Amino acid sequence: MYRRGIFSALPAAALLATSCGASDLPLSQVETAPLSRAPDPAPIDRVVLITVDGTRWQEIFQGVDRELAARAHLPESAIVDARHLLPNFYSRVVDRGVAIGAPGGATIDASGPSFVSLPGYREIFSGRPALRCTSNDCPPLDEPTLLDELRARDGADGIAAISSWETIEQAVSQSPDALTLSTGRHGGRTRDRVRVSLTAARGLDRAAGPYPGHADYRRDRDTAAIALEYLAARRPRFLAIGLGDTDEYAHRNDYRGYLQALADADDFIGRLFALLDELGDDRTMVLITADHGRATDFRDHGADPASQKVWLLAAGGSIPPRGIVAGDSRYRLADIAPTLRRLLDLRADPSPRAGRPIEELLPDPVFASH
Ligand SMILES: [Zn+2]
Repeated sequence: MYRRGIFSALPAAALLATSCGASDLPLSQVETAPLSRAPDPAPIDRVVLITVDGTRWQEIFQGVDRELAARAHLPESAIVDARHLLPNFYSRVVDRGVAIGAPGGATIDASGPSFVSLPGYREIFSGRPALRCTSNDCPPLDEPTLLDELRARDGADGIAAISSWETIEQAVSQSPDALTLSTGRHGGRTRDRVRVSLTAARGLDRAAGPYPGHADYRRDRDTAAIALEYLAARRPRFLAIGLGDTDEYAHRNDYRGYLQALADADDFIGRLFALLDELGDDRTMVLITADHGRATDFRDHGADPASQKVWLLAAGGSIPPRGIVAGDSRYRLADIAPTLRRLLDLRADPSPRAGRPIEELLPDPVFASH
């Protein structure tokens, strides 16, 4: 199905080797030649796209903020660097893959002009800046998303979104009822499809209130449990997981809660990769990003240009181990979907508003321009 991925994962030398008269070589050399080079990176079979709502680049790359920690009366021992705050983000993703958004390196921004959630999610899933959506109260999607394109090509089976925030339903698909969706505590008319185990059912049916969110918000704890159960039981081809406690605690100006939510997100990443290990799966690409950053006051986001700056981590499958990306590349959230289109061998978006693939996530520069 993703044959392009298989070919593009082959090093250029290997492709050349197949076209230069292998039959002239003695049989022993033909047989041993493939063993002499490093194993090919695995192609991408599946994608897990995780969003951690409103998480700042500062904690991702610099760890706990001393000033905010002091204001929250956190002890000195709570002030740790990024690797200690987010051990799984680093050991599982940054060290084995690609990280964008660190100070002084390549950047990734939300396009705005309003740096709030629904436009951010629409930009991520459609691959175009959400020009006609500048708040969390927008008209229905008027263009297809990456998930819609996957469904049109391969069918709806195995395309799912599971999120804490109910409104993500309005960003992932033009036809949400056609996919598997559980958004917020009760959102998603197909939510019963994620009822794959007792644990998932408990997460779906839990009567706990929306704290730290509001309205139909579902706590990350339940969203994460459902997502892992669904992944294990159904092995979806494309799974979007939306965590949101970070943004909710930040709006409460609760830095302690925000840090705990971030540590919980890190724990989730650890459990996700442990599950993939258990399944023997090294062909799933895991991508983690945020819909927007935070204003200089930490609590808010929206008009303040500080909240346009986000971050992106990716690893798994054929994602090369480039680590933190240096240089002056400037990316946008709209570039994520075009990257995934390329990796999943979907047609490129012809719109002039479309983003462009993130070169550092592609397997080999030789193939970056096809
Ligand atoms: Zn918010």
